[in-house]
Amino acid sequence: MDEQVVHVSCDGSLFAKHPKMDRLINGFLRELCPTKQTKVFSAQTAGVIGSAMLAACYHHNNSHCDDSKSNPNSKCQSYRMEIVWRNIFLMITLHMASVYGAYLGIFHARYLTVMFNYLYLILTGLGITAGAHRLWAHRSYEATKSARILLMLLNCGALQNDIHEWSRDHRVHHKFSETDADPHNSRRGFFFAHIGWLMCRKHPDVREKGRTVSMKDIADDPVVQFQRRYYKPLAALFTFILPSYIPCVCWNEDPITSIFASTTRYTLLLVIVLSYHSDLDFID
Ligand SMILES: [Zn+2]
Repeated sequence: MDEQVVHVSCDGSLFAKHPKMDRLINGFLRELCPTKQTKVFSAQTAGVIGSAMLAACYHHNNSHCDDSKSNPNSKCQSYRMEIVWRNIFLMITLHMASVYGAYLGIFHARYLTVMFNYLYLILTGLGITAGAHRLWAHRSYEATKSARILLMLLNCGALQNDIHEWSRDHRVHHKFSETDADPHNSRRGFFFAHIGWLMCRKHPDVREKGRTVSMKDIADDPVVQFQRRYYKPLAALFTFILPSYIPCVCWNEDPITSIFASTTRYTLLLVIVLSYHSDLDFID
């Protein structure tokens, strides 16, 4: 069995370096990835679970050097996966808050708040499925300007990158499916394809080959470009502020319960959409 060393560069230090932790993580990797001997090598820390899982999901052979779909003339480059600790921290915080939000939703929230968030989840989901995915990324149908504005606003409530970026990533995903240029390359494993790709810097091929994907139609759409220009305030307003505020004003919901219920709704939609990238990747 060939031993492959996966370099995981850490820019944070959550665990003190300890040889026992190295052995623990490398044992864990052997369980996850039995066909490849993989080692975590970290300059600053012994690694954490996030590093281990990402490293296990990273197949060193899956570089564009030997990928038939890649440019055969491209030079072999070594790729060092760089973990974005801020995103890992955000994901952990988000999921913990969502568990608490689910508890509040079951035991404390008003019935109307739960129904409202369920409806809002469906609608903002349409902002991704009918909007960013079908309308903008695939151009499966035409839509009037008012329909595009509505879908754009619903898309803001999903907070999954603006339509321009979402469409570009998705077109790259289809054009270079299962290569390093695929932002959520499923050949790098279930965890990477599901959520790991949001926890590390994009492979250079994603950016490089992403430039070959035509985005003229998206760049020419004033609705998409308006959203891109004001994405942060729009996303904050439609993802958290408005759906938290409406239950408080309309049926006197407790503000804390409403905020956490909104967080749970958002996380649920995120998990559903990310599932399309991993376990449901064949549906496009
Ligand atoms: Zn698709």
